[in-house]
Amino acid sequence: MPEILEIDDDEAKRMQQEADEKRAQEEKEHAQALADADRRRAVDAENKKQRAARAARVEEKKKQTAELMQKLGKVDLEDDDNPDFLFTMPKENKNIDVKSLGYEIFVSEEKGRGIKAARDFKVGNLILKAEPFAFVIFDHMAEHVCHHCFNMVVRDRQGQPTTQLLRCSSCKFARYCSRECQKKAWSMHKKECMAIKRIAPRTASDEVRMVSQILWKQAERGEKRAKSEELCRVEELCDHLNDMSFEDVNKLEEQSKEIGDYFGYENLPDSDEYIDHLFGIVSCNGMSITDMRGLQYLGVAIHPTLNLINHDCNPNVVAVSCGPNIFVRAIKPIKEGDELFISYIDTSATSETRKNILKDQYYFDCTCKMCESGEKDELKSAYVMPKEDVSEKRSTYIEKNTDIMMKKIESSKKVQAWERVAAQAGGCLLQQENLFDDTHLKKLMILQTCSEVSAILNHYDDAAQYAERVLAAYEQLYPEYSTQIGMQAYRLGVHYWHLQRVEDAIKMLGRALKHLEITHGPEHGMYQDGLEMMKTCLQERQMDKATLMRIRVARERMGQGKEIDMANHVGNGPINWTSSNELSWKGKN
Ligand SMILES: [Zn+2]
Ligand SMILES: [Zn+2]
Ligand SMILES: [Zn+2]
Repeated sequence: MPEILEIDDDEAKRMQQEADEKRAQEEKEHAQALADADRRRAVDAENKKQRAARAARVEEKKKQTAELMQKLGKVDLEDDDNPDFLFTMPKENKNIDVKSLGYEIFVSEEKGRGIKAARDFKVGNLILKAEPFAFVIFDHMAEHVCHHCFNMVVRDRQGQPTTQLLRCSSCKFARYCSRECQKKAWSMHKKECMAIKRIAPRTASDEVRMVSQILWKQAERGEKRAKSEELCRVEELCDHLNDMSFEDVNKLEEQSKEIGDYFGYENLPDSDEYIDHLFGIVSCNGMSITDMRGLQYLGVAIHPTLNLINHDCNPNVVAVSCGPNIFVRAIKPIKEGDELFISYIDTSATSETRKNILKDQYYFDCTCKMCESGEKDELKSAYVMPKEDVSEKRSTYIEKNTDIMMKKIESSKKVQAWERVAAQAGGCLLQQENLFDDTHLKKLMILQTCSEVSAILNHYDDAAQYAERVLAAYEQLYPEYSTQIGMQAYRLGVHYWHLQRVEDAIKMLGRALKHLEITHGPEHGMYQDGLEMMKTCLQERQMDKATLMRIRVARERMGQGKEIDMANHVGNGPINWTSSNELSWKGKN
């Protein structure tokens, strides 16, 4: 009996000891939590003070400007503190050899800065491969894409992910496709990671994150130039603050007030003007990063050299996204001394629409040859009959009805009601059919929709017929070599393949590859995809029908049916922050 008592005693002692330890631990944790809360409160109070001071300075500046405006009436203000970057030659980089680089910066009286060729380029030549100075993945895309290599989560037809991304355990924001990507990204992510935790549970806007990335990169490169700054340092880019409307500048200053909480006030540059300058640079120089097919906007990047290339509605070079890099290739023969032009917008719009967009978003009046001559404008509102035989009333009615239908189609797409989309677009097309030509922009839009939705519903016969008409229209509307023609030919080739029209598929894919080789280049994933598709077709050509069917069924079972998600190309050029946040409509990601 005493033995049992002894054991009980020991047990009681042990339990008492455990309870004591637990209480001590709890007390320690409680004290720690109190200390943390105190520290947090102190930081919050300090942040609040800094924010208020900064906000007061911004308000004061606004008031002064408003007073000045009132005094002077409506005149343009010449701001001495804000040099006109557009017409100023950036500081010369003595370490580059222009001849081997192949291009150089110059300043012209009409357009300001630009880039010209320092040697001849043939059609398809790679002129420059622009690495970003800094980039961010959009907040709403953060969990769908690797923040280092931009690989996307692969999804099956039901939209379920078939691959997983690893999440940064510290900030729970950054995602990576592999440990390797995470390791490589760490030197750039380290500061962002801390900033995300600093502001949590709040989040910073994409613009605040972008400006912070620029500041970190500037601190890292110091007095030296980053590779992307060979012709112009990032802070020498144009902010267009003087061209923006009051509302836009206001919005920008509101954002600029937020940056300290995220970036940390201790390292923030003292000059508020400098921060505003960077926000201005980001808002008009950010280039979109898209997925390989150019279907979805993933984020935004700053490429100082690339940003110097001016716009023309009939450009001689094209810029294509490839991960965070942008490839610039010649689509026309270029002679030494020729200026390089990309198109900032989709050039299929009429000259009037193009001019409005360029003025609104990029602050200049386009005086390119295409705009001056109105070339191809007529095609874009063409009828199938002579103009004098067209009833204007009927034409206006159908155009208006198309706009209404497009809105309805957009809502149907949002809920993935594809049968309804097909009926709506089909009905609209029927109305247009004997009046508008296929190059009429309102009809082209409907034809594209018909083709896309038919493919989604596996009606490849219809999809191919509509796609043929879209391609024919594109060939009239776009320049000889363009990403749009290449991608459309690719889509059509895939439709033919689905229909087992292997010979037609080979011919069409050949056409697609000819374009993609020039616009995207052989190293681009899009070209590689096209090549794979072509190889599949060439193999299948050798087979008899029965073998072919067996192979296709087997491939389908293994989940390797050549499904191809090919909505419309989103184009390239400095990004439009507001509209770019709209995802491509078929994107389930
Ligand atoms: Zn990766
Ligand atoms: Zn992190
Ligand atoms: Zn133009």
